[in-house]
Amino acid sequence: MKTKNNPNNKHPFVDLETIQNLSQHYPTPFHLYDEKGIRQTARDLYKAFSWNQGFKEFFAVKATPNPAILRILKEEGCGVDCATDVELMMSRTVGFREHEISFTSNDTGASEFVYAREIGAMINLDAYEDIAFLEANAGLPKCLSLRYNPGGVFELGSDIMDHPEESKFGMTKAQLFQGYRELKEKGVESFGLHAFLASNTVTNAYYPTLAAQLFELAVEIKEEIGIELDFINLSGGIGVDYSPNNQQNDIFAIGEGVRKQYEAILEPAGLGQIAIYTELGRFMLAPHGHLITRVLHRKKTYRQYVGVDASAVNLLRPAMYDAYHHITNLSNPDGAEEVVDVVGSLCENNDKFAKHRSLPQPRIGDFLVIHDTGAHGFSMGYNYNGRLRSAEILLHEDGSEQVIRRAETPEDYFATLYGYSMDREN
Ligand SMILES: *Cc1c(COP(=O)(O)O)cnc(C)c1O
Repeated sequence: MKTKNNPNNKHPFVDLETIQNLSQHYPTPFHLYDEKGIRQTARDLYKAFSWNQGFKEFFAVKATPNPAILRILKEEGCGVDCATDVELMMSRTVGFREHEISFTSNDTGASEFVYAREIGAMINLDAYEDIAFLEANAGLPKCLSLRYNPGGVFELGSDIMDHPEESKFGMTKAQLFQGYRELKEKGVESFGLHAFLASNTVTNAYYPTLAAQLFELAVEIKEEIGIELDFINLSGGIGVDYSPNNQQNDIFAIGEGVRKQYEAILEPAGLGQIAIYTELGRFMLAPHGHLITRVLHRKKTYRQYVGVDASAVNLLRPAMYDAYHHITNLSNPDGAEEVVDVVGSLCENNDKFAKHRSLPQPRIGDFLVIHDTGAHGFSMGYNYNGRLRSAEILLHEDGSEQVIRRAETPEDYFATLYGYSMDREN
């Protein structure tokens, strides 16, 4: 199922000269995105699901909330998936409208539902209890989707992929059926079904296995309640291999796998009109982003430390999940291998991009590329220690660059404080 193990497959999408030129104008650290790669992935996804009439990808905005990135995806035919009112607002500014926007939130405030209704976003309810809450606070729309959580564990063969029973998201099967019944009685006309049961999967079997479960549920819903779903949302969860083994998912095999289940389960049940939706974030963007950073210091105590100018505020995943992100030393690719810890400056010992990592010797001033930061990278950033958010730069297909978000300044950091303004003198 997995593609061939190729240890030399994790190459940056930029070269040293480009980075040297960029760094003359934009100080490191910064996030860099590759427009060509983003478009290619979107096109491959649409090709892989071209067998399904209504197929649409709703990019999970939280992964890379930048209008310039969302615009590229819009041009490739994608919609957006939002979880908050601010993500909805950003999507509106890019020009997404009504059914190009899905709203898959949880623990949602009344005003957010009101706004989602106002702009005609497609609402996907996380909880059975949300039905009454939505009706009371914003009214029920004509089209609604419900989020399913089967409980238990999600298995592929003998591998446990995730633990839905521990997940706060979605509703039980009994609640789901009760929900559809009530919504039908209340006059809702168009229905969707959604589930997100395993995160960052690197196997072509995840989507087809999930699809089969949801397709069988759709048949039951038709038989028991008389509702023919309009769409089934397979949500996110197709991952990327962050390791240098680079055993990436094959989206064409995944699309075919889902098609087989569709033809085996939905079509014989007379449900061949159902559109397939996805809400991929990581798969769409992660490989097409780099965090570019520079070595500031070397330090030797009980280990060899390489201090860089980025920190966990720019990329939280290693500190939060102990996640592996591959690192390339662009400046010294042929240097002798050295085992180091690559660290940021936060007063937190989990601020490490790599531990005991063998790298071509990182020297002071070297440019390092931290890979696969295009999703859940910049977006999880924060301001601990008064560290500021970096710039985001888009590399266009013609090689030109565009700053799509400037770096924060101390003035930005002070902007929300009353009575104290930034004082560079004192
Ligand atoms: C985070 C999220 C996604 C995207 O997940 P990825 O793992 O980035 O593909 C999609 N849908 C919902 C509801 C999410 O919360």
